[in-house]
Amino acid sequence: MKAAILTAPNEISLSDIEMPNTNQGDVLIRVRAATICGTDIRIYRGRKTAGVRYPSVLGHEFAGEVLDNGGHDSLKIGDRVGLCPFIACGHCRLCKTGHENLCTQGTAVGYEIDGAFAEVIRIPAQAVEAGNLRHLPDHMSYEEAALVEPLSCVINGQNKLDVSSADSVVVLGVGPIGLLHVKLARLRGARRIIASDPNAQRRAAALEAGADVAIDPTAEDLVERVKAETGGHGADVVICAIGIPALARQATDLAAFSGRVSLFAGFSKGVFAEMDVNGIHYRELTVTGAFGLSRKDFDHAFDMIASGRMDVKPMITHRFALDDIGEALGTAEDGSAIKVAVLDE
Ligand SMILES: [Zn+2]
Ligand SMILES: [Zn+2]
Repeated sequence: MKAAILTAPNEISLSDIEMPNTNQGDVLIRVRAATICGTDIRIYRGRKTAGVRYPSVLGHEFAGEVLDNGGHDSLKIGDRVGLCPFIACGHCRLCKTGHENLCTQGTAVGYEIDGAFAEVIRIPAQAVEAGNLRHLPDHMSYEEAALVEPLSCVINGQNKLDVSSADSVVVLGVGPIGLLHVKLARLRGARRIIASDPNAQRRAAALEAGADVAIDPTAEDLVERVKAETGGHGADVVICAIGIPALARQATDLAAFSGRVSLFAGFSKGVFAEMDVNGIHYRELTVTGAFGLSRKDFDHAFDMIASGRMDVKPMITHRFALDDIGEALGTAEDGSAIKVAVLDE
């Protein structure tokens, strides 16, 4: 079978390899659509190395068709399925207290387990038994199903912030993740949604996704503009959807009294940032992180997309065959695309 093999930072190439070896109960899936995540790019470029193996196969946002059901009666050959790619251990302190996304003993497809930039992917029995696989309804495309994973992470982030109809929300950076934040905040009824991004194409996409205003922070004073847009109060919720350290400081400046700030995007390893500690203290700000997803987030995201409540189809702007994985990664990296899909159809 064909697979895109990462052999070192910046080195990824298509190879013909053996079909994955399966242990008892493992399932094989023929990948039909996989989407490229910012994390895939960071790994490809060597900016993220923790937990990364060489050689390995990246790709954790995907859906496909069952090729070998591993003896599970619930799965038939040819069934269309999507997968929650994080497999928590299920028994550590974090798993037991409802924080399985933070489980340090878990494994993830596309990291410890070879991922979806390949014709066929192996799903460990443990994931099948834990309910990580979901059947796609007929009307749900493989591409839509691939986008369930990033939406799950966004749901986790907004649950931590408790975004509601009472809130004005600022999203800093409206790449694919920021756009999902805009869409979700809209669904949750946020009363005003303000997007900020220097990229004009992304600002236009944010307005289409439901933002009330989209600001170019290089052309005007973002803090002043957000004040003006929020009756002089500042934002109830500020979401950093891009890992730029200076934005952490700016987020505290943008938040209203009693505001909540999410450092949603990951930062490069070893990076530290300033925050306005007096602002956090006197304005009683809550600063939170958000990492990964739990199975419940995956199920919520899956149902949100499957029911048509959230339309993610317009987010896929570019499609490539697996043979052109290099070009696909380059397109995802250069900012011209929203979401890039790698297809095998
Ligand atoms: Zn991802
Ligand atoms: Zn655990």
